[in-house]
Amino acid sequence: MSAGLNSAQLEAVNHVHGPSLVLAGAGSGKTRVITHKIAHLINGGMSANRIAAITFTNKAAAEMRERAKQLAGRGAAEVLICTFHALGVRLLRQQGTYIGLKEQFSILDTDDVTKIMKDCGGATDNATARQWQWAISAWKNQGLNAAQALAAASNEDERSSAVIMGRYEERLIAYQSVDFDDLISLPLKLLTEHDAVRQHWQQQLSHVLVDEYQDTNATQYELLKLLVGPRGRLTAVGDDDQSIYGWRGATLDNLKKLPVDYPELKVITLEQNYRSTSAILKAANNVIGPNPKLFPKTLWSDLGEGEPVRVVACDNEDHEAERVVARIQSLRTASAHKAFKDFAVLYRANHQARVFEKAFRKAQIPYKVSGGQSFFDRAEIKDLCAWLRLLVNNDDDPAFLRAITTPKRGIGHTTLTQLGSFATSHKFSLFEALFANSIGSALSVRAVGSLHEFGRYVNDMEYRARRIQGAEDAKAFMLSWLSDMGYQQHLMDGEDSEKLAAARWTNVMDFVDWMSKRCGGTIDDTAGVTMESEKKTLLEVIQTIALLSTISEREQDQDVVTLSTLHAAKGLEWPHVVLAGVNEGLLPFKTDDDSLTPEALAQRLEEERRLMYVGITRAQRTLAVSWLMRRKKGREMIAGKVSRFVPEMGLDDTTTREDPREKLRALRAEFAAKAAASAQLAADAEPLA
Ligand code: ATP
Ligand code: MG
Repeated sequence: MSAGLNSAQLEAVNHVHGPSLVLAGAGSGKTRVITHKIAHLINGGMSANRIAAITFTNKAAAEMRERAKQLAGRGAAEVLICTFHALGVRLLRQQGTYIGLKEQFSILDTDDVTKIMKDCGGATDNATARQWQWAISAWKNQGLNAAQALAAASNEDERSSAVIMGRYEERLIAYQSVDFDDLISLPLKLLTEHDAVRQHWQQQLSHVLVDEYQDTNATQYELLKLLVGPRGRLTAVGDDDQSIYGWRGATLDNLKKLPVDYPELKVITLEQNYRSTSAILKAANNVIGPNPKLFPKTLWSDLGEGEPVRVVACDNEDHEAERVVARIQSLRTASAHKAFKDFAVLYRANHQARVFEKAFRKAQIPYKVSGGQSFFDRAEIKDLCAWLRLLVNNDDDPAFLRAITTPKRGIGHTTLTQLGSFATSHKFSLFEALFANSIGSALSVRAVGSLHEFGRYVNDMEYRARRIQGAEDAKAFMLSWLSDMGYQQHLMDGEDSEKLAAARWTNVMDFVDWMSKRCGGTIDDTAGVTMESEKKTLLEVIQTIALLSTISEREQDQDVVTLSTLHAAKGLEWPHVVLAGVNEGLLPFKTDDDSLTPEALAQRLEEERRLMYVGITRAQRTLAVSWLMRRKKGREMIAGKVSRFVPEMGLDDTTTREDPREKLRALRAEFAAKAAASAQLAADAEPLA
């Protein structure tokens, strides 16, 4: 043992001159190997900026950076620690011009992509557009372009998706935009086709480390190989039993390929689990047992047997939430881990969070929903932010494209394509291009007229936004802007359901209130604290929006219960975990796709089992698995059946009756919360912060 590492971990850390793979079960210290290895490389004299560590989420990257700083000092701040996608952005910003991408290219989110797909394929509903999106994304993840996809298509549906992919590709080039898949496939193209760029990166990076290697897809692996180069200075860590992104193209082939592509690969296995009690670990090992094994593993823990895993049968969703509340309250009085942040409730699908949110609010338990959608990610808020961003920075092309097409104002795809190529050839931003003297040579008089009208409107708004101060005026300004644009009607036209459109409009109104309050000068939380401040102009407030949306992501240290999907819980750990809704149909998730072959169905089930394994192994001290005897399906209540994974855990006693003490505590807490809530009614003036 040295510096909190066992001998196998040390071996992995010390292996720095060639490729290595750490293959081990959950909680065995794989991520710890990565952080310690970063520190070891720096302490051994390697420049921090020559090290890249690739993580699965931005949050994991932030945590790793923090840990590395603790171990290796401030120098570690220069290590490139990021996700594959963020790495892709960096490569494209630096050298994307080699493949014809301008420096301020835009990154489209899923909603932007859906809109473009609708246009390309002439669909009016989101569902069809998303199906194309899905198919096209799968092709991109296999490294295929539209022509190759068309050649490989085996039925009419696939052929028409491939044709739409061709149009979509043209569109993105014209808009100088990329989607999330492009953030991997374009850097791959860049490194494949341009020797100088490839050599630059291979010389720049002396060691590349990858966490959660089992969830990489084919293009990520190819990209990784090109970054690492022939020297093979690569450390990959992963667990085949935790591969849960097969549905997004992740492939275990990447694990099989490593020893073939790197014959000198050193494979290190870790067997001791430092996270969970033996009771929890046993349940996990039993569940994963039936899955076929890529590599045999044994995992043990010396943290003692611990509390037995509890199985809780609940009447329905509300009852389940009530029992979780009672469990949290009870463990907070009885356990050494009392902080709210010591608890997590994990579930299979995002919608399962809602009933817990309600119950937690009622019981005054602070919580955060991770893996869900943040307010600033909502399409309607992004529409408005795009407009506002364009006012602040006319050169923001993605904002320009979103604003000029939302709502539609008769400026079509052809005009925008022509404007895009005119702007690229003159190295103008789209907004600059619109007012350029020579624009008439590239576009028709009518098109120029509509563009100018839009440009003048933006300029006029900007002029007013600079001067408007105070809540009242800001609100009036924003409302008149929304009505000029016909934004409410736009929402009505764009949604399949009226209810959804109305919910979006409510969000818009919340946003208007939130912005105007900030102009009023009573609230300023840009520094993370709420304080009285001077009145602000609307333009000043707009400039802080981007900062605020990042603040909402920096939430690690809040003392709150985590509500999370199983997918988003990967790599994390909590003293107390509840797996909720562990029912047949939810986990394993029931698929309605009848076209699946028995083989494909079996693979899905294996992935669901790995998901259950991931869930169980998040728990350090206590684990409760709850299921619903009756559950909601659509608008109906149906009989619930306990998941097959529950008996597979091999527990001694698989039913737990409701503990009357828990019930009593819950009632008391509910009563106290009601009393406190009525006293506080008037104080809640900040719904969004
Ligand atoms: P997962 O498969 O869930 O990603 P992992 O293999 O990455 O898990 P880590 O998160 O690195 O595991 O470690 C699990 C826990 O065990 C962490 O709290 C970590 O600090 C602790 N740990 C790891 N190795 C050791 C060690 N040698 N001594 C003490 N604690 C350790
Ligand atoms: Mg890990």
